[in-house]
Parts: sequence; C-alpha cells; structure tokens
Amino acid sequence: MKIIIPILLFQFLFHIQIKAQDPLHIKNRNLPCVERKFHLYIHLVSDSLGNINISESDIEKQLEIANQAFKPICISFDYCKIDTVHDHSFFHINDDEEIELLMSRFQKKRRINLYYTGSVLDENINSYSYHSGILTENSGVIIVPLSGKGLIHELGHTFGLLHIFETKFGAEKADGSNCAVSGDLICDTPAAPYVLPNKTCTFTSKLKDINGDFYRSEIGNYMSHFFCAHCFFTTEQYERMVENYLASPIKMW
Ligand SMILES: [Zn+2]
Repeated sequence: MKIIIPILLFQFLFHIQIKAQDPLHIKNRNLPCVERKFHLYIHLVSDSLGNINISESDIEKQLEIANQAFKPICISFDYCKIDTVHDHSFFHINDDEEIELLMSRFQKKRRINLYYTGSVLDENINSYSYHSGILTENSGVIIVPLSGKGLIHELGHTFGLLHIFETKFGAEKADGSNCAVSGDLICDTPAAPYVLPNKTCTFTSKLKDINGDFYRSEIGNYMSHFFCAHCFFTTEQYERMVENYLASPIKMW
C-alpha cells in the first residue's frame, strides 16, 4: 500500500502522459502506462581487425526482447542512429577509466546511448550502466557485450532499479520485514544475497541473514546477477521505473 498512494498521485499529476493500461494488466494490478518510445543512440565498437560483429537485425531482435519486458508499462525502445567506434582499445572494457574515456568521446546527451563491445569488465559483472541514468541529460549510458546479455538488466538500472542483492541501505532480512528501507527498497522482490551463478544456473547458498534465516532468491528477476535465468520484473519494480521516469526533469528523447 505504501507504494500505491504516491503512484496514484503521479497518475493524477501526470494524467496527460499516462493512458489506460491494456486489459491484460488491469486484471493483475493497474500498472501505469507511459506510452513512451525511446530512440537509442547505438555505438558499435570494432574489434582489432576493424570488424563489426553484430548486424542491425541482431540489434533489432535484442530491442524487441527488451520491448516485451517493458511492455507492461508501455515503454519501448528503437534506435535513431548507429555509429561505429573505430578504436579497438574499447573492444574490451576493463575499468571505469575506460568507460569514462569512451563516454567522453562518443556519448550523446539526452539519449540512452547503447554501446556494444566484445566484453565489459568481467564475466560476472557482464555489462554496465549508470544507475538512474534517466534522471540526467548525460547519464544515459549502457554497455553490453555483442550478445546483448544484460541489456534489460541495465535498462532496469537506467530507470532507477537497484540489484535485488543491494546492501548500501543495509542488508534486507530474509523474511523481508525491513524491505522498505533496506536491500533494493522494493518489497515484492525477495531478499537476496550476492551469489554468483554456478554452471547449472542454480542458486545454492548457505548464507543466513542477521536473524539466522536462510535466504531464498528469485534468480529469474532481471535485477539479479543470474543473467542466465533472467525473465521478469515484479509489479513494484515496474511501478518504481515509471515513478523514476516521471520524476525525471530531463525526459530523454
Ligand atoms: Zn547490475
């Protein structure tokens, strides 16, 4: 309930931007619908031989998968321009310094900039974005490997979602009793510890919370680091993304 009241207030204040939700989602819960298509600026980093190893149709397929994930809140993604980064030193992104350098050379303001490279940081981190990048004009940055793995996860961060294993506000208890002020600050995601996926993409952890209770996790949630299992956002995650988008003073193009 804590979340519903501010969302209703947003709906009232921004009623012009929010249209009626399609019947499928009304059945479940009345998610806000922002009817917004974001036109991404895409940058393809060439490899050491100068080759680009991804096609426009590959990109379109990846965006279509992202569109399905964001459909419940009527957000979709297309691209307005694709350029090539002819500097293979960026083909393997190793650290934050390289990310800053990449952005300083190629980033376009007021757009979600999507960079495709060979690899981003390490295998477990997989991909990169600015948290709440949607809130400021020069922070719409997402870097993914050519497979597109992690794209929806990074869009989640861009729209203000935290990891389900976030601890900067304190660790969430396994029973979720402090969910509103700890972990990812969202209550319909379970408390989860940071556990790396194993080869079979299953969650096995003997970690316990402060009360001695074992954690369970939702590895399929897009905001886990189980990229191998990603398949859903929760209702409150959708609501939080809309809330963040509507709170943005910038509104990305
Ligand atoms: Zn992340």
